[in-house]
Amino acid sequence: MWRATVLTIFPEIFPGPLGASLAGKANAKGLWSLAAVDIRDFAADKHRIIDDTPAGGGPGMVMKPDVLGRAIDAVAADDRPRLLMSPRGAPLTQARVRELAHGPGIVAVCGRFEGVDERVIAGRSLTEVSIGDYVLSGGELAAMVVIDACIRLIPGVMGKEASAAEESFSAGLIEYPQFTRPQVWEGRDIPPVLTSGDHGKVAAWRRAEAERMTKERRPDLWEAYRTRKDYKAPPKR
Ligand code: SAH
Repeated sequence: MWRATVLTIFPEIFPGPLGASLAGKANAKGLWSLAAVDIRDFAADKHRIIDDTPAGGGPGMVMKPDVLGRAIDAVAADDRPRLLMSPRGAPLTQARVRELAHGPGIVAVCGRFEGVDERVIAGRSLTEVSIGDYVLSGGELAAMVVIDACIRLIPGVMGKEASAAEESFSAGLIEYPQFTRPQVWEGRDIPPVLTSGDHGKVAAWRRAEAERMTKERRPDLWEAYRTRKDYKAPPKR
């Protein structure tokens, strides 16, 4: 079973959206598990203090390394990667998600306030992971994003394994447009090729559309895709 342990000062936020829909059903089926650990339980004083003012001055508070260290140590030592949600980390990619999903699970530490004491990052070998170049008020939503993205790739979670293979980023492209009934909606048709029953033509159309949209919307991804060693331009239609 793929296991997620989240260290947070707001354990009541979990499972939140991870308890619904695909993730919730997969959890009920025993395909993954979630434990939310309250960092405050590891405070040493009666006020359960987990933060203190930044050394050197400045605004806000910093999460204490002693409390956080004890909380991390209370999570059974195993070979799950220990992640710290952090805007300074490497931005999460689908490739990283795939790697994490195929491993034993994750331990995710959620920061709050100005973040965590630098020494606990080194002392507990935390790998910083960012979900994008913007600042959240806490790591909980980021941890949920990482966990949600991983869960859907755990074998048996998604109906058809194929649905993960074709979607955005898997092949370095964003996904082709999707349509469903009715055939005509407000005067707009489903592209006829999709209802032609010709699987070869459908596949060629989808690939061309995925490439067109990637080129238009994500020139960064397109450049990486186009220059890949195994890239073959599609045949002219
Ligand atoms: N002072 C920090 C921001 C702290 S935000 C800085 O400037 O870098 C508080 C917490 O929210 C962080 O410790 C982190 O756990 C979480 N967080 C904020 N933005 C995030 C992001 N883009 N990705 C992942 N976690 C984030």
